[in-house]
Amino acid sequence: MHTLADLGDIQSQRVLIRCDLNVPLDGDRITDDGRILASLPTLNFLLSLGAKVIVISHLGRPDGQAVPKYSLAPVASRLNELLEADVHFCSSTTGPEANSAVEALAPGELLVLENLRFNPGETDKDEAQRKIFAEELSQFAELFVSDGFGVVHRKQASVYELPQLLPSFAGLLIEKELEVLTRLTKNPERPYAVVLGGSKVSDKLGVIEHLLPHVNQILVGGGMVFTFLAALGYKVGSSLLEVDQIETVRGYLTRANELGVEVILPTDIVVASKFGADALVEVTKSENIEDTEFGSSGLGLDIGPESALAFAAVIREAKTVFWNGPMGVFEIEAFANGTKQVAQALTEVKGLSVVGGGDSAAAVRILGFEDSQFSHISTGGGASLEFLEGKQMPGIEVLK
Ligand code: ADP
Ligand code: MG
Repeated sequence: MHTLADLGDIQSQRVLIRCDLNVPLDGDRITDDGRILASLPTLNFLLSLGAKVIVISHLGRPDGQAVPKYSLAPVASRLNELLEADVHFCSSTTGPEANSAVEALAPGELLVLENLRFNPGETDKDEAQRKIFAEELSQFAELFVSDGFGVVHRKQASVYELPQLLPSFAGLLIEKELEVLTRLTKNPERPYAVVLGGSKVSDKLGVIEHLLPHVNQILVGGGMVFTFLAALGYKVGSSLLEVDQIETVRGYLTRANELGVEVILPTDIVVASKFGADALVEVTKSENIEDTEFGSSGLGLDIGPESALAFAAVIREAKTVFWNGPMGVFEIEAFANGTKQVAQALTEVKGLSVVGGGDSAAAVRILGFEDSQFSHISTGGGASLEFLEGKQMPGIEVLK
């Protein structure tokens, strides 16, 4: 894999860089700029060499259309605040307007092009369509740098097809992410605990199977919990549930048992009358979710206080911890406790503590923790999980 150390003299050259600037927004206010900060070292490095830097990224899921709320304009403004260089923004991704913006760029200046995913070619299932879009992008530059770790597990035009069209290099963020995640897979210090939560339940369930042979404990919280509780025969009310995965989860539990891996599930749940900050709330045993005053309409939105303490105790004792996915709907104060306790416990780990996932990273910052309290906060959720599973990632393979 070529890295920035192999770049040589790139003064006045046009460098296209794929970043992952997919930050959470509240209107046009960035609620967590972690991914922007993580992209700065590579951007500063390229600018310091006098390159003309053209930044491409996606934001959200606009599904191939120009959806104003997913514009990268707020991200470009934030970059302008953070970088000493002149930062320009172009409201097109390709075409004549983008072309003129690239032409106008001076050495040591940076241009952000509009959201890649405003163009259907970026995520098209048809490789030929992705290739056409990648070719348009490749016209802008002499070199390509791949630094969007959060998307390297995706076969998308800017991640997989584009590097095949230009001399390509891995950026500093990708290098750093791979280095830390490799430490999790090569002889991790034990006990090794993995904490999983969040709402992308079906995406993440498959990960468990691959992780089981490598870890000592798996702690399950967030929306994923309810498929596990259902596998134990409990009723889960209106909580997130993947009915067609219940059997699979039973299989994981059996396999974990055979391997001597502890699967730690919450023993209590915070049940809400509805989804929202004004919901009524009751804490109940995990087996009694439908026995609250809300009956079968109650939904579990956080692990309970007893579980949060138990999870924290296991985490603190571990020597290696990887955490992906909030324990509850942390965005709402009433459902943030589980995530808070887990984050706090990670800061107390005497060993390697890694947080992965866009929302998980945002959660720790929003809840008031500093990045420096963890060994590493990965910018990739899905990507870091796939790496831990031992899967080959298209955006990395293509750089080799
Ligand atoms: P990450 O981005 O860290 O990989 P996900 O995208 O999978 O995490 O999930 C994050 C989301 O999961 C958060 O917005 C949070 O509100 C939601 N969530 C957590 N627990 C639950 C739950 N019990 N029910 C519904 N949503 C949940
Ligand atoms: Mg997420």
